[in-house]
Amino acid sequence: MPVKEKTNALSTHEVINQVPVLENYNLYEVDPLLKELPLPDDARQRLCDFGARLGSSEYIRAGVLANEYPPVLSTHDRYGQRADTVEFHPAYHQMFSAGMGFGVHCLPWTTDEPSAESHLERAAGHYMLSQIEAGVGCPLTMTFAGVPALQRYAPEEIKSVWIPKLTAKVYDHRFLPVEQKTGATMGMAMTEKQGGSDVRANTTQATHLEGDYYSLRGHKWFCSAPMCDAFLTLAQAEGGLTCFFVPRFKPDGSKNSLRVVRLKNKLGNKSNASSEIEYEDTWAVRVGEEGRGVPTIIEMVNHTRLDCVIGSAALMRAALTQALHHVNHRMAFGSVLIEQPLMINVLADLCLEMEAAWLMIQRLCRAYGQGHADPQERAFARLATAVAKFWVCKRCPQMVVECLECLGGNGYTEDFPLARIFRESPLLSVWEGSGNVISLDILRSFQKEPESLDAFLSEVSQSEHVTKQSLQAKIVQLAQPFSARRLAQSLAVHWQMQLMEQSTTPGACEAFARSRLEEPGGVFGLQAKVEDCRAIVNRFISSFS
Ligand SMILES: Cc1cc2nc3c(=O)[nH]c(=O)nc-3n(C[C@H](O)[C@H](O)[C@H](O)COP(=O)(O)OP(=O)(O)OC[C@H]3O[C@@H](n4cnc5c(N)ncnc54)[C@H](O)[C@@H]3O)c2cc1C
Repeated sequence: MPVKEKTNALSTHEVINQVPVLENYNLYEVDPLLKELPLPDDARQRLCDFGARLGSSEYIRAGVLANEYPPVLSTHDRYGQRADTVEFHPAYHQMFSAGMGFGVHCLPWTTDEPSAESHLERAAGHYMLSQIEAGVGCPLTMTFAGVPALQRYAPEEIKSVWIPKLTAKVYDHRFLPVEQKTGATMGMAMTEKQGGSDVRANTTQATHLEGDYYSLRGHKWFCSAPMCDAFLTLAQAEGGLTCFFVPRFKPDGSKNSLRVVRLKNKLGNKSNASSEIEYEDTWAVRVGEEGRGVPTIIEMVNHTRLDCVIGSAALMRAALTQALHHVNHRMAFGSVLIEQPLMINVLADLCLEMEAAWLMIQRLCRAYGQGHADPQERAFARLATAVAKFWVCKRCPQMVVECLECLGGNGYTEDFPLARIFRESPLLSVWEGSGNVISLDILRSFQKEPESLDAFLSEVSQSEHVTKQSLQAKIVQLAQPFSARRLAQSLAVHWQMQLMEQSTTPGACEAFARSRLEEPGGVFGLQAKVEDCRAIVNRFISSFS
């Protein structure tokens, strides 16, 4: 991997044993999991090109700048009229444009029928993009996830105008009516002050105007990427909680009343504008039936949850790349860190975690790609998405912290990427169903869609390490709210075990079984066999120079 050497002669001392800058590398080429994807050559080539571009010093710098210069809200223009626009650093636009150019927001929707391959290619593209800049992932994901919900539930007049713009591989960030734009983006606004998980508590009111048209009045406490061209939102109509489509412009071309009150001051995710908004006489189009707001928007939420898994895995991989690079160069106590047995133990454990998370994504992509034609795959996706969302998002911050520690003190400073990755790492667990809520959702799926549990169990019990009876016994023991997290963890780890049996990394399956099922521990680096660890690390480090 090409790295930049630094000059080392200072007047007071010589700079030695600092690792070279990691830039101008190919994110695809350094990742053995990506290089083995079951994809056709043209898709691999696109991923390879995208990986090279994202790993260039130019894009790495853009990822930094997009976060160092966060978005700025203009509530009013200079004449005192409401503006409600957000201005971003050019680096943010550059990253967004790269994502849309690749099709992170649309790849599966650009063919007649979504396929496992198009989902996988998209997932891999998203995974690489978010390693360099995670903030643009939010609106790209919401745009991606909004399309199937519109496709299924929106009136024809919305579908025919909006879907071609939402699936165009063009980033057009001008604040204009959709008809005048070459590409469009979409957000989602559900969370209110009095409750985000329990959206039934939403107080925003929808008054019927005529046909599918309504007027909204109320607020949303979180609305990320308010510069999007339209939003799916929830409000109380006469028939109950209902899903609505809210464009930034009304059909006559005038600005719709959507007030962006302020931007959130967040722990991380700095490049992404997350806002509080208000609706007053806001023009909206009903999507789905009155009173069916949650089932309608769930179509979108399932896809955003998939992306929470991909986004968390991306942060894990970004952190792992930094850790591998560092230990490959840094010396301590007379030898390079990568050769020291205890460091090998930690790194191998991190690589195992990475592979298990990625294999979940790969399997989910197949389920999403085939789910429209295969009820078994659709049922599998329902439960498996929630299980993966819980587990990968929870493991992400733990893994990032351990990678950060591999860099020692440098890892804890703002001069290295780990600090930004660390601040980003808890977010996707909060979003789209926080840890408890997603665990309870797993229980709900047992009741409401028992076929999802059947599909999940028959697949996971194909493992040599798991029997259907033992899993069923665990479910009987743990399927209650108090122990829903233990259940979610158990389902996740057993599923990962089954997936790791397909791993081509020598020793990985046995090491995973020992450390995750037989003698699970509390921290990374508790592996028992040094030979297995060496083989695992060798596979992941082989593309690093
Ligand atoms: C950066 C950022 C961007 C966001 N962007 C958006 C956006 O664009 N659109 C949008 O709609 N929302 C957005 N959100 C909001 C996010 O989805 C909510 O914060 C989340 O759903 C939790 O809702 P809440 O904050 O109201 O917490 P609450 O619902 O009050 O939950 C608080 C805690 O209680 C737990 N809990 C809830 N119910 C139960 C229960 N029955 N049993 C046990 N525990 C429970 C939850 O797991 C959570 O840990 C964003 C949040 C962040 C941080």
